[in-house]
Amino acid sequence: MKPFSLLLLLVALTASAAERRYGLVIHGGAGVIERAAMSPEREAEYRARLAEALNAGYAVLDRGGAALDAVTAAINLMEDSPLFNAGKGAVFNADGSCELDASVMDGRTQAAGAVAALHHIKNPINLARDVMLKSEHVMLAGDGAEKFARSLGYEMMPNEYFQTDWRRAQLKQAQEQEKQKAGQKTAARPDDYFTRTLRWGTVGCVALDKAGNLAAGTSTGGMTNKKYGRIGDAPIIGAGTYANNATCAVSATGWGEFFIRVGVARDIAAQMEYRGTPLREAAAATIAKVAKLGGDGGVIALDAAGNIAMEFNSPGMYRAVRLSDRPAMIAIYGDEAKN
Ligand code: ASP
Repeated sequence: MKPFSLLLLLVALTASAAERRYGLVIHGGAGVIERAAMSPEREAEYRARLAEALNAGYAVLDRGGAALDAVTAAINLMEDSPLFNAGKGAVFNADGSCELDASVMDGRTQAAGAVAALHHIKNPINLARDVMLKSEHVMLAGDGAEKFARSLGYEMMPNEYFQTDWRRAQLKQAQEQEKQKAGQKTAARPDDYFTRTLRWGTVGCVALDKAGNLAAGTSTGGMTNKKYGRIGDAPIIGAGTYANNATCAVSATGWGEFFIRVGVARDIAAQMEYRGTPLREAAAATIAKVAKLGGDGGVIALDAAGNIAMEFNSPGMYRAVRLSDRPAMIAIYGDEAKN
């Protein structure tokens, strides 16, 4: 190659690396989130906290940090906020305590870590990441997971740390509704058991870093009034969380039983992998499968080219996106932007 063409090639390569899009998408849960039921003050609080989490994740990416670090930075802020159903402010299970699930996946290596049914870990996403990086397993649950956390020097929080009055009131409401509905349930449609209106606020993040690596993470308290050690989709790799540099990163939120049955996060990636379906189309097709079974919720997704999807079939989903080449966007309701 002549020196001049070599120079041109170098200039082109440098320019494409410099222009490569990076950024992240976060969600704070999907559900019956409607303007009529939201005070302006409360809405402002949600938007402020979403902005804070979005900016914390973006700062990591902007300084050349890894997608995985951006994911945990954004999720930690939402876990620490009582507004969301993750960490502090998680929903209550039927026994009156908060029980937390989380998972994380690195799209570069397809390494993954997950934790379920925790009662004492302040930031479950950090423990999921440690399961990925420091254990020989992918998923740890309950006492065993907390034993592993203790071996790493994690502080054990009293369960009261996670508990808030408004989530306690939701449990009471769910249990009263359950009592009223007793006897009316059918095996074909046991839906009101997990009352749609009483859960939202799971958090998640998908990120694409300057090196072109994807990562995804999800953290939740699950569903109000959940019973018998119930575990939802959030800590299940391929259902609530998935990341692969070859396709996309996905974090889900919604009625977990349906998301597990559809294998939501992996289903989106599989359409891209096997059929070359564009991300947004794949996300819409997968959410349609959830809806067809009777479920509701949504996903955020990001592919290796920086295309995004924020797809949901519930009235609202707390969501926000910040990409290196366009203004940040924060939205809550179904009639606001979805991409
Ligand atoms: N997907 C979560 C679960 O089923 C709940 C949610 O996202 O609202 O545990």
